[in-house]
Amino acid sequence: MSATNNLSSLSRRTVLKGWLAAGSAVLGNAVLAPIAQGDEAILPTTPSCGPDDGPTRSSTEGPFYTDNPPEKRDFRSDANGSPITLIGYVLGSDCKPIAGATVDLWHANQDGEYDNRGFKLRGYQTTDAQGRYYFETIRPAEYAGRTPHYHIKITPPNGRTLTTQLYFPNEPRNELDHLYDSALLMKLQSASDGDIARFDFVLA
Ligand code: FE
Repeated sequence: MSATNNLSSLSRRTVLKGWLAAGSAVLGNAVLAPIAQGDEAILPTTPSCGPDDGPTRSSTEGPFYTDNPPEKRDFRSDANGSPITLIGYVLGSDCKPIAGATVDLWHANQDGEYDNRGFKLRGYQTTDAQGRYYFETIRPAEYAGRTPHYHIKITPPNGRTLTTQLYFPNEPRNELDHLYDSALLMKLQSASDGDIARFDFVLA
């Protein structure tokens, strides 16, 4: 396959399958660059985890978290909106993948509203043996005072929870949002039917 750096001809599902099957040709793409190959070898040059990078920065939980969300990775039936497949790794401070970490995602809909009565656009999943997570969801809209963002809590087995937020590149309101942190920008790339967003978390 020659389109290793261009995902626009591939569906999100095809890209996701390639990413999960490490070693696929699509791994030549920067957004899909692997942390781990197979179960063991760790690539030392991964930009999101190295000696110059500290742990992922925390951010405020905000007022809209609801306790005890369901286990769910596919939010697409919860709300209409521009489709996004969010992928990444949960890594320890040694850059090694953490299996069995809880990844809890919640965010606003395409009108900038949260579901505060139910669990639409809310759910958690657990990282696989290679420390990977993925969600099928939509792009949230901005709301009063806030640029578009995802809220995330990551809890490793027997570890401390990291609460943070993720941001979209090239959003005009990013710089106007006092909570915005450029260290929490996702890498985003278009597929044929939506976007692939990548963020790797490094726990302290
Ligand atoms: Fe929010």
